Amino acid sequence: MLKIAVSACLLGEPIRYDKTGQRDRFITDKLGKYASFVPFCPEHLAFGTPRETIRIVLENEHKKVITVFSKNDVTDAMNTAMAHELEKIKKEELCGIILKSKSPSCGLGSTKYYMKEMSEGKKDGLFATLCKEHFVDFPIEEEARLLDPWLRENFVMQLFAYADAQMLEKNIQTMRELVAFHTAYKFLLQSKHEANYRLLGKIVANHETKSVMEITQAYLALFKQTLNHKSTIAKTVNVLQHMVGFFKKELTSSEKQELHLQIEEFRDEIIPLIAVMSTIEFLAKKYNTTYLLGQKFLNPYPKDLALRSMIQVGK
Ligand code: SF4
Repeated sequence: MLKIAVSACLLGEPIRYDKTGQRDRFITDKLGKYASFVPFCPEHLAFGTPRETIRIVLENEHKKVITVFSKNDVTDAMNTAMAHELEKIKKEELCGIILKSKSPSCGLGSTKYYMKEMSEGKKDGLFATLCKEHFVDFPIEEEARLLDPWLRENFVMQLFAYADAQMLEKNIQTMRELVAFHTAYKFLLQSKHEANYRLLGKIVANHETKSVMEITQAYLALFKQTLNHKSTIAKTVNVLQHMVGFFKKELTSSEKQELHLQIEEFRDEIIPLIAVMSTIEFLAKKYNTTYLLGQKFLNPYPKDLALRSMIQVGK
């Protein structure tokens, strides 16, 4: 089971400034089948609920937290609460963080900053900034961005792959396990970053005969960095063509034609990724192409999350 830290209001906790929650059904109902959640709310901890709203005000490069109506400087109370919440989530073996958009604490690139009374543009909220500093190359998103099917697909793929990497790190005994892991992730890594995929292959080759632990650490650091890249429709098409290349000798000419047509239709955003994937999986089973069937790219997360069934996925 995945473990994800989530802004408590997104889980429906009535913890926002006006004592409401903002339950996100995708998180609670869909991801909730595969994840347990670690809720956090620095503002509730600092000021209780209900509370006066706050905003971030820039003063000589310093970020101050000011209450909107009474104009009190509550920066210290906020910093203490954030440090506490960060310590709390650091203790958990997380594989992702989901933040509430637009909040002065939790927004990810969507938090308004002010200078005096004037808006100074949107940046990361204060707690989001702390999370990004501490959790490097880590799956972090805000819920509003997850409404975009492409970002959602990328994020969920990253969550599950990150959890796999944690599992490998904990249990690995032999080089053979690392090679098998890399082999299974070949196409997924290629869809993210071709050059990194090749570098990862060189690490696994282990020409300097380093210890399993040493190699695994180096491998997983780059693996996590690679997962952080977003794939594009062009990279995905490239990977699909590579996959077809794997069993092109077995395919009949009409099967080959059909697959190429589907890939073109996916590229032109006429059919969703799942349609092409299902055909590749069907044919891989028909011809018992175990290499393809073992690829994480074919099934990167449980099918009932159904993210790839949207046309926009993969753009
Ligand atoms: S956005 Fe963050 S600080 Fe605001 S209520 Fe939700 S969890 Fe608390």
